[in-house]
Amino acid sequence: MTLQDDLWFPTDRCLIGGIWAAPQSGATLDLIDPSDGTRLCPVARGGAGDIDAAVRAARSALDGPWGAMTAAERGRILTRIGQLVLERADRLARLESRDVGKPLTQARNDAIALARYMEFYGGAADKVHGQTIPYQRGYTVYTLRQPHGVTGHIVPWNYPMQIIGRSVGAALAMGNAAVLKPAEEACLTALAFAELAIEAGLPKGALNVVPGLGEEAGAALSAHPGVDHISFTGSVGVGGLVQSSAAANVVPVTLELGGKSPQLVFDDADLDRALPFLVNAGIQNAGQTCSASSRILVQAGIFDEVRDRMAARYRDLRVGPAMADLDVGPLVSARQQEIVSGFLALAAKRDVAARATLPADLPAGGSYVAPTLLAPVAADHPLAQQEIFGPVQVMIPFEDEAEALRIANGTEFGLVASVWTADGGRQMRLASRLRAGQVFVNNYGAGGGVELPFGGVGKSGHGREKGFEALYGFSTVKTVATYHG
Ligand code: NAD
Repeated sequence: MTLQDDLWFPTDRCLIGGIWAAPQSGATLDLIDPSDGTRLCPVARGGAGDIDAAVRAARSALDGPWGAMTAAERGRILTRIGQLVLERADRLARLESRDVGKPLTQARNDAIALARYMEFYGGAADKVHGQTIPYQRGYTVYTLRQPHGVTGHIVPWNYPMQIIGRSVGAALAMGNAAVLKPAEEACLTALAFAELAIEAGLPKGALNVVPGLGEEAGAALSAHPGVDHISFTGSVGVGGLVQSSAAANVVPVTLELGGKSPQLVFDDADLDRALPFLVNAGIQNAGQTCSASSRILVQAGIFDEVRDRMAARYRDLRVGPAMADLDVGPLVSARQQEIVSGFLALAAKRDVAARATLPADLPAGGSYVAPTLLAPVAADHPLAQQEIFGPVQVMIPFEDEAEALRIANGTEFGLVASVWTADGGRQMRLASRLRAGQVFVNNYGAGGGVELPFGGVGKSGHGREKGFEALYGFSTVKTVATYHG
């Protein structure tokens, strides 16, 4: 099966107002297959003019059939998109595998998650409602939950399907009209999703997609005065730029940024259960997961045992091209490979507890990095403080609960944390005190969890997506007070 067999939509176009249109400049960008460095296909290099047209198309949709639909009708369309995603799950998975370098099984899981988002938000669309409020005699007061209007969605390359599902899905459920700017490194499933939305009967202009470079199409979208809400998922640096643009237009922004998420392993933990979570949370999608667990904090008495057991798993990891569907694929690009290799160069030789073997026959042009476990690493070392975004985990020993908490909360991030312990009191204390948007107890959930509100504190961002919380974020409350005597 070649890439061409899986393409049933144009790749070198933008979707604007229901029409696949060439970018105004006529320019394209090349998508590269990170498994072997070959060129996959051209994609549109949208610019400010295309973003402007997309924002106008979204506004027209709000004034047209899309804006006139009931919540139940919107929900039915989203559910239908979910069904189409399920029917095309294998195809979508192959597109994502080639584009992102993600092993096929992991890409298929993302397609299933996208379908789940559409089902969840399709079902939830008509279940968000306002309140009646007791007020003064002679008044009836109620609130209306209404869409912001035009929502801008800037997404990264690491989980395109899941991030589109959680952000565009929730925005459409609430009746917004969306303009989506996928990442320049990987945008095939964003285009496929748009085509499925058309097939499912989504009215023209309710979803517009403009691929392109961040500094061109992305910057134009975040600065456009016709956008009423911005959802950004990506790096801390760009998140700050997007927030500044949103501030200039005085519009709300949701930032889903990076992390350095810890797992805290106490000496009463069920290690047999913990082990697969400890490693998978670090190497899933080659560690290119915002909620990857890149710090493993282990109580001193069991540190050596946990290190040795994790090291054994690392040595067994199989690395190869995405379509070979092994444990770990390439990184998304040569640039990302360079960044991660730069971090690994900071590690002393004696810090390497284990490193997976890269097979000799890997394609020469691929962006592979050997998954690496570093132990022990000082809690304040750059490797234990900065987001590496590759298949690298650091292990840090601690003596007691107070020290574990201090180390866990000792980075500028706060996205996800997990606690492995049989002690119920400690579970409760740490769940309350860990600085994170999500805390898992005796499990770890990198990625998944359509129903679970997700987002960060500190440099991990602000605002929540997923679950019902996203529906509140993608809507605004209007209070209506009627005096009737
Ligand atoms: P990035 O910030 O470089 O790019 C993300 C998106 O922003 C892309 O679509 C890009 O084109 C766009 N962009 C780039 N420059 C822009 C600009 N000046 N104005 C507007 N848009 C611009 O991030 P990345 O390297 O693609 O992704 C990796 C980062 O994303 C990591 O830090 C990771 O933790 C984070 N991430 C967070 C989550 C989350 O949910 N918290 C999920 C996935 C990734």
